Amino acid sequence: MSVSKVPLAGVIGCPIAHSKSPLLHGHWLKTYGIDGHYVHLHVETSDLEDVIRMMPKMGFVGANVTLPHKEAVFDIADQITDRATLIGAANTLTFRPDGKILADNTDGYGFIANLKDGAPDWDPKAGPAVVLGAGGASRAVIASLLEAGVDDIILTNRTRDRAEQMRGDFGQKIRVVDWIKAPNVLEEGKLVVNTTSLGMTGKSRLRMPLDGLRLDAVVTDLVYTPLKTELLEYAESIGCVAVDGLGMLLHQAVPGFERWFGTRPEVTAESRAAILG
Ligand code: NAP
Repeated sequence: MSVSKVPLAGVIGCPIAHSKSPLLHGHWLKTYGIDGHYVHLHVETSDLEDVIRMMPKMGFVGANVTLPHKEAVFDIADQITDRATLIGAANTLTFRPDGKILADNTDGYGFIANLKDGAPDWDPKAGPAVVLGAGGASRAVIASLLEAGVDDIILTNRTRDRAEQMRGDFGQKIRVVDWIKAPNVLEEGKLVVNTTSLGMTGKSRLRMPLDGLRLDAVVTDLVYTPLKTELLEYAESIGCVAVDGLGMLLHQAVPGFERWFGTRPEVTAESRAAILG
C-alpha cells in the first residue's frame, strides 16, 4: 500500500530565522487548504550538499535558497534554468519525482510582476531604465528588464568594476556610469530602480540628490524595510509612480509554490499582510 506524504518545503540559509518566507507560504497553504508545511532551515555551508540530498527522502518537494548558498547550489543541482545561469544564482529548488534537482531563479520574475502590479502603465520601450547598484539582486533585475524589452539600461554602482562586469555579461544595452554621476543620469530614467541596500533599516541612507527625477518616472526600490523608503517617499511627493519592494518578495515566491504544491497562489492584500506579520 502506498502512503501519500505530506509535502514539505522550506527556506535554506544561514542565518535564516529572519526570513519571512514561512509566513507567506504558510498563509498560502492555509488559504488554499493544502496539507503541507514550509519551514525555516538553518544550514551551514559545510552541510549544504548532504542536507539537500537528504531532503527529498524526508518528504521535501522543494526549497527556497538564500544567502550564502545561492551560488553553491549550482554544484548540487542536476538541471539549472537558463535564467538562473544568466543571473549566476538560484533561489528556488524543485525536487522532482525522478530524483533530479532543478535550480531556478525567480527574483527577476518577481521584480517584473511587482512592477506590472504597481505600475501597470509602465512601458519597457518608453525610455531608459536607471539601475542603482550592481550586486546579486541587480543581476536578476537587469536580466528581467532586458527580457521585458528594455533597450537602454544605465547602470551605476559604487564599485564601478562590478557594473563593468555586468556590462560584459549582459551586453551593449547596458551603459555604465560612475556612482558619483548617478544624480545626473536620473533625469534620463523613465524607470529608476534602487537595487542597493542603501535606505534599508540599519544600513546607510541613500544620500543622493534626487531632484533630477522625472515627474513621469516609475520609481521602485528593492529595499522593503522600511516599506516606504526615502527614495519612494520623495518620488511619490513629486508625483512619480512609486512601487515598493515587498511585492517582489511575494511574487518571486509564486512559481516555487505552484511547482511544489500544485496550485498557483495569488498575490493579494492578504498575502502582503501575512508577510508583514
Ligand atoms: P549585494 O549583492 O550585497 O549588493 C549590495 C549593493 O549595494 C551593491 O551594489 C553595493 O555596491 C551597494 N552598496 C552597499 N553599500 C553601499 C554604500 N554604502 N554606498 C553605495 N552602494 C552601496 O546585495 P543584494 O543581494 O544585491 O541585495 C541588495 C538589496 O536588495 C538588499 O537590501 C536586499 O534586501 C534587497 N533585495 C530585495 C529583494 C526583494 O524581493 N524585494 C530581493 C533581493 C534583494 P558595491 O558593489 O560597491 O559594494
